[in-house]
Amino acid sequence: MTEPKDFSLSCPVPAGDGGQILMAHGGGGKVMADLIEKVFMPAFDSAALRERHDASVVTVEGTRLAFTTDSFVVHPLFFPGGDIGSLAVNGTVNDLAMAGAKPMFLSAGFILEEGLPIETLSRVAASMGAAAKAAGVQFVTGDTKVVDRGKGDGVYVNTAGIGLVEGSVDVAPRRVRPGDAVIVSGDLGRHGMAVMALRESLEFQSAIESDCAPLWTPVEALLKGGIDIHCLRDLTRGGLSAALNEIAAAAKVNVRVEEAAIPVREDVRAACEILGLDPLYAANEGRFVAFVPKVQAEKAVAILRAQPVSQGACRIGEISDTPGSFVTLRTALGADRALDLLSGEQMPRIC
Ligand code: MG
Repeated sequence: MTEPKDFSLSCPVPAGDGGQILMAHGGGGKVMADLIEKVFMPAFDSAALRERHDASVVTVEGTRLAFTTDSFVVHPLFFPGGDIGSLAVNGTVNDLAMAGAKPMFLSAGFILEEGLPIETLSRVAASMGAAAKAAGVQFVTGDTKVVDRGKGDGVYVNTAGIGLVEGSVDVAPRRVRPGDAVIVSGDLGRHGMAVMALRESLEFQSAIESDCAPLWTPVEALLKGGIDIHCLRDLTRGGLSAALNEIAAAAKVNVRVEEAAIPVREDVRAACEILGLDPLYAANEGRFVAFVPKVQAEKAVAILRAQPVSQGACRIGEISDTPGSFVTLRTALGADRALDLLSGEQMPRIC
């Protein structure tokens, strides 16, 4: 077992209180949360945004639609288990699924750098097409812009998505309450480590592959199985820690999780140790956390394990009865420590 680590010592981050954008503003941590609160919320405030969800649910003449958007700047463009194209499809499809919505339609926006080989763009586009087919969604609109050589990084992709929320499904942070069980859908940290190992030229016996995958199938299985899902969140930037902290803040609840119950593969753990990173903060692109009533936890885990993409699902903790907005980790050694939101990002440009 590894020793608990104090990441405030190993992960210095800029304070973010200056007048300019820093890499940390894109990291999914405290600095980005600050930017949203101080710059975007005052300008864009709406009831839908105040839900602080992965996708907003809007009602059009009685039909509930989920709507979301996401931009992708991952570097390098291709990595074991995926590429910027599959990431751009699955990232948006999964944000819709996290609102309990069946993903239906996508847009694709490209910002291309002068000099990008058409062959590279073709590979990205083919990957997006294949990922959309696998996720059961259709591209219905798009846009292309080109910037000068040296002013981009090959290709950036934006996708927006629309999904349908059926029946009385209501999956949102506000529904999380004391007594809920916390379930993860599988092992953590593979996407982050697949990209970081490639960037750092780490050689393992076999390459760590990204977990990049669409997640509507396991969510649909939970809904069809009668699980009253209170909330879902995909474990992208900032990993499990960011997701739990966001939900704790949005729902005003204390989350308790057990380190020993959180699945991390040995090769991922080894890569994290070499790079001085924590798998609980590492990005995933095919994993989510579910908050369900305690009495349904066992059934929910069984339903998830029956789906290939979530066969490693397990219960890792619960929402405690005490008031607050904190996340506490019971370490493998039996001590309790705060699982904080990082200030910035331990892995920039991971998605
Ligand atoms: Mg998300």
